[in-house]
Amino acid sequence: MTTKSGVFWVNWANENAKNSNQLIELEREFRENVEAFISALREGKASVRITSTRRNAKRAYLFHWAWRIATGSANASDATAMDGVDIEWDHGSASSSKNGALEMVNGFGLAMPPNSNVAPSLTSNHIMGKAIDMTILWTGEMTVNDKAGNSTKVQFSTNVNTNTQLHKVGASYGVYKLTSDAPHWSHNGR
Ligand SMILES: [Zn+2]
Repeated sequence: MTTKSGVFWVNWANENAKNSNQLIELEREFRENVEAFISALREGKASVRITSTRRNAKRAYLFHWAWRIATGSANASDATAMDGVDIEWDHGSASSSKNGALEMVNGFGLAMPPNSNVAPSLTSNHIMGKAIDMTILWTGEMTVNDKAGNSTKVQFSTNVNTNTQLHKVGASYGVYKLTSDAPHWSHNGR
């Protein structure tokens, strides 16, 4: 049985399709790399706060199509299907389909144009468990070991995106910085 798009799906996702901020949810190889990097940072006396690890694929699907239909960048009939999500995007008319999608955009608190012009991703590394959002803080200069065990000095910078010394240490562990998104690190830098 299918249920039309609307606030029902916001409640459904908040119950059945939650995101995680736990390391255990990451893909195994990336998780081991991240754990090693974080241990090195903590040994270097940095504090590491993890805000996001794996993004639920069903939630990402609902975000993506709700956003696209609500903004008019797709018609309800364009939406793909997803196993385990029996949603009916098409309400029979373009305007009521758009309203159903808009209820979801509002319920999920998604940013719409002009605040955001990009649809929530269906292919983020977070969905595959190969990305992590974390805030790394320390005071002054930290001495941290790279994967080979070489100790490196890294100066704190309020802009993590330009801290190439820190990026190098992360890369030695296979954890790469996306330099346009402050908390975001992944298996390939995207
Ligand atoms: Zn991220």
